[in-house]
Amino acid sequence: MHEPRKLYVKSFGCQMNVYDSNRMADTLAKEGYVETQDPADADLVILNTCHIREKAAEKVYSELGRLRKAKQEAGSDTVIAVAGCVAQAEGAEIIKRAPVVDLVVGPQSYHRLPEMLAQVKGGRRVVDTDFPAEDKFDHLPAPSAAATRKRGPTAFVTVQEGCDKFCTFCVVPYTRGAEVSRPVAKILGEARALVAQGVREITLIGQNVNAFHGEGPDGKTWGLGRLLEELAGIDRLERLRYTTSHPRDMDDGLIAAHRDLPQLMPYLHLPVQSGSDRILAAMNRRHGSALFFEIIDKLRAARPDIALSSDFIVGFPGETEADFQATLDMAERVGFASAYSFKYSIRPGTPAAEHGDQLSESVKSERLARLHQVLEASKTAFDRACLGRRFDILLEKPGRLPGQLIGRSPYLQSVVVTAPPAGIGEFVTVDITEVGPNSLAGRVVDAVEDRGRTSDRPLAAMEA
Ligand code: SF4
Repeated sequence: MHEPRKLYVKSFGCQMNVYDSNRMADTLAKEGYVETQDPADADLVILNTCHIREKAAEKVYSELGRLRKAKQEAGSDTVIAVAGCVAQAEGAEIIKRAPVVDLVVGPQSYHRLPEMLAQVKGGRRVVDTDFPAEDKFDHLPAPSAAATRKRGPTAFVTVQEGCDKFCTFCVVPYTRGAEVSRPVAKILGEARALVAQGVREITLIGQNVNAFHGEGPDGKTWGLGRLLEELAGIDRLERLRYTTSHPRDMDDGLIAAHRDLPQLMPYLHLPVQSGSDRILAAMNRRHGSALFFEIIDKLRAARPDIALSSDFIVGFPGETEADFQATLDMAERVGFASAYSFKYSIRPGTPAAEHGDQLSESVKSERLARLHQVLEASKTAFDRACLGRRFDILLEKPGRLPGQLIGRSPYLQSVVVTAPPAGIGEFVTVDITEVGPNSLAGRVVDAVEDRGRTSDRPLAAMEA
């Protein structure tokens, strides 16, 4: 018998990439590859790259430099592949600059990996950054039961890819292409298979997930709200989430899903980027602050226990102190349970990169620190208000200390509890007893019975 070939995948960036890495591993499992955590031990190394952060390509090149050195020292013939958005953006340039690379594959071509690897074996270098006509999802195999179990009780399911919004700072429409939604039947099939393998929580993902407009089994176009309603009907699928959303696509059907579906967690990541109408227009976000506040009000009316998270960019070209003040005011007014804030940085090829009025690093850093202070204060206030509350926690993995498990609250906070390892994959009712900077701790008061579909109680309302 042949030794199985070893695969090491390193995933950078967002959940889309984590999902894609898993699907690549599933595709290659069919070719006899097993995953390893050690790149030195691998026959195939895939760097699944992200283009969102600053100097993304440079980071990939320095990682490739390390791999080249290790490969030379070991005298190995490890195949090195670059996947993801940097692969899509840089294409053949990667092989020119880093000849150690054998294969460059864009996000739409992962199903062709086995063919490409055969070509590499035949001595060729391969670059595939096409947007092929066939649907890669039809060709990517489902994970095996063992792979799903290893990945734990939560899973991502891609429902759409690409983006048509063209925000002026963002590379996604160029690297991931136009919006494409998967048909509802395919998504339901994938979700049912995951649940049958023990998954209890599914996060629907897409670059612009709430722009989902997939073909329903009735031949009509379904929005995300309708899709969530159908998913909520799957027995033993206890929790649903979705990310990442655009405010313009928060339609009434989706807001109603927050009101009607107890399985839909009361936590929403809704990036706004700026509180200034002038900057939102310059970013081509296609909405102003008034629409954002209106959506927040509607969501809170639909689901009073909902908590919100967001993304902010500070120091966008042309941002004045007054514009920045509007962002601070928005952050104070909404009171986000968590948020990510970044300094604007140029992405070559995007319209904002050409803007003449770029701000200095010192102004950007100073504003970021001020915004960070406001966002941290509201996160801390939200976490502290959880002290003494009772939550259902889905136990996901072992904790740092023996006897500990870590699960997630409805609000995605990590919660550390004392529980036996067999509890992984189960729900427990937990009283929150401690609040730390990065996690909560709690005491298990009860295992949670299956609520099935009969429950009409929102999860977060299950408190003493
Ligand atoms: S909506 Fe999101 S993914 Fe699309 S262009 Fe804007 S920031 Fe990028």
